[in-house]
Order: sequence, then C-alpha cells, then structure tokens
Amino acid sequence: MNCIYCKNLMENEYSLFALDLGESVIVVRKVPSHVCDRCGQTVFDNDVSKQLDRIVDSLRSSADEVNIVEYADKVA
Ligand SMILES: [Zn+2]
Repeated sequence: MNCIYCKNLMENEYSLFALDLGESVIVVRKVPSHVCDRCGQTVFDNDVSKQLDRIVDSLRSSADEVNIVEYADKVA
C-alpha cells in the first residue's frame, strides 16, 4: 500500500501501539503495520485495528497502571 500523505510505498513493519487511558497506559508491542519511511506515518490494517480495540477492552479494567503485552500473545 502507499502512504495516504506522501504516496510513498509503505514497508511492512512491526510497530508499537500505545494508548493512555488516564488511569492506566496500555502498550502493545510488535503490531503488524505499514510504515512510511519518508514521513513516518504508521497505518494498521482494519483487522489489526479491531484486534487492538479488543486488546484494549480486555486490559481496560486491569488494576495495573502500565500494561505491556505482545500482539501475537493476544491474538488467537
Ligand atoms: Zn508518507
């Protein structure tokens, strides 16, 4: 796929996804993504985004202040 901003061809890479929920922080490592090496834009496929939503929901009620997981461990 090409970058929506600069039209550069994007590379398939693993990225870090982080979300600050205020009460806690969720970090998902090694997420499959498309990265533009020209402008730095990172894009996740739709199914990956859905999995990230699911992971965030499952960790939202966690008592831990910081949750660090690996994408592959959370996706069946
Ligand atoms: Zn770009």
